[in-house]
Amino acid sequence: AWNFSAGPAALPEAVLKRAQAEMLDWNGSGASVMELSHRGKAFMQLAATAEERLRRLLGVPVGYKVLFLQGGATQHFAQIPMNLAADGDSADYIVTGHWGEKAVREAAPYINARVAGTSEAAHYLDLPPRERWTLDPAASYVHYTPNETIHGVEFHDVPDVGDVPLVADMSSNILSEPVDVAKFGLIYAGAQKNIGPSGLVVMIIRDDLLARKGRPMAKIFRYAEHAANDSMLNTPNTWGWYLAGLTFEWLETQGGLAAMGERNARKAKTLYDAFENSGGFYRSPVAVNARSRMNVPFTLHDSALDAAFLAESEAAGLLALKGHKAVGGMRASLYNAVPQEAVDVLVNFMRDFATKHG
Ligand code: PLP
Repeated sequence: AWNFSAGPAALPEAVLKRAQAEMLDWNGSGASVMELSHRGKAFMQLAATAEERLRRLLGVPVGYKVLFLQGGATQHFAQIPMNLAADGDSADYIVTGHWGEKAVREAAPYINARVAGTSEAAHYLDLPPRERWTLDPAASYVHYTPNETIHGVEFHDVPDVGDVPLVADMSSNILSEPVDVAKFGLIYAGAQKNIGPSGLVVMIIRDDLLARKGRPMAKIFRYAEHAANDSMLNTPNTWGWYLAGLTFEWLETQGGLAAMGERNARKAKTLYDAFENSGGFYRSPVAVNARSRMNVPFTLHDSALDAAFLAESEAAGLLALKGHKAVGGMRASLYNAVPQEAVDVLVNFMRDFATKHG
C-alpha cells in the first residue's frame, strides 16, 4: 500500500526495517533502545550522532542550539511566546491557514499576538500579499507557517522581516529541501511527518533568543534549561530520537536535502499536472503560486463521487486520501518517505477513475 497520510505519516521503509531488525537487541546491548537509560553512554552517543546528522543536513550555522523536545508543535505555540517575549510584549503572526491561526490563539494568553498578515479572506487558499503585511519593527518576533498542512499552502521563499527574528513552524516541510537556517531565529517541527514518530519536537534556536528572559515560568518550559541540559532536563522521547536519527541517516544516503528537494518538486509536479490534464475532473483549490509540494488538496468535479473515489482508492492500496473537512475533497501528502512510484500509481488510478466515472 502507498500511504498519503498528512501525519502521523509514512516513514522511509528502510528506517522501519532497520528499527524492526534492531527492536529486541539494539547495538549489541541485548535490549531494545526503548529499554535503555537516556544517560547511558550508548544512548548519549546515539543522541549526539543524530544531532550531528541533522546539523549537517540543514547546514546549521554556529550560534544555534538543536533541541529534541516533547509536547508536539502545539505546546510550542504557547511555549515560544513564553520564552521569547515578556509580559506586555507583542509578536507578529502571519496567518496562512489552520495551524497559524492556532499558533496565534495559543500565544494570546501570554503576549499581544498581532495578526500582521492573513489570507483568511481568501479562505487560506492563497498567501497574503507582502505589501499588505503590517510588520512592527518592535515586535519580539515574527511567526509564520512555511507550509500549511491542511490548506496545502506553502511559501516558496523565506519572507524578509528585517531585523526581527523569524520563527517558523516547519512541522510539515522540514527537511523537504535545502533551507538557509541563518535567516531564522527559531525553527521548530513536530516529528510526525518528515522526521519520525509523534511525541518528538525538533527545535533549532539561535543563541540570542535562548538568552532572552521571557516571562516567569517553570524550568521545564524554559528552552535555555533544555539547551543547558542537552535536551535531557527530564527523560526525553528516546524512541523518537532514535528513529529521527535513522531518518537523518537515511536522508544522507539519499543525497541530502538537495536531492530530496528535486524529488519532492517532481512528485508534486506529477500530481498538479494530472489535475491540469484531467479536463476539469480534478482541480486544486489553491492559488498556483501558493501550492504546497508536501500536502496537495484536490476536489473532484462532482463531490457525489467522493465516497466512490475513497473506497476505490483504498481498495487499490492508496491510503488516507480523504481531505480535511476545512477544505473538503481529497488530500495527498507527499512527504520525503513517499516515493515517486507512489505518486505515479496515484495518478494512474485517478486517470482510470475519471475514465470510469466521467
Ligand atoms: N503545525 C503544523 C504545520 C502541523 O501540520 C501540525 C500537525 O500535526 C501541527 C502544527 C500540530 O502538531 P502537534 O499535533 O504535534 O502538536
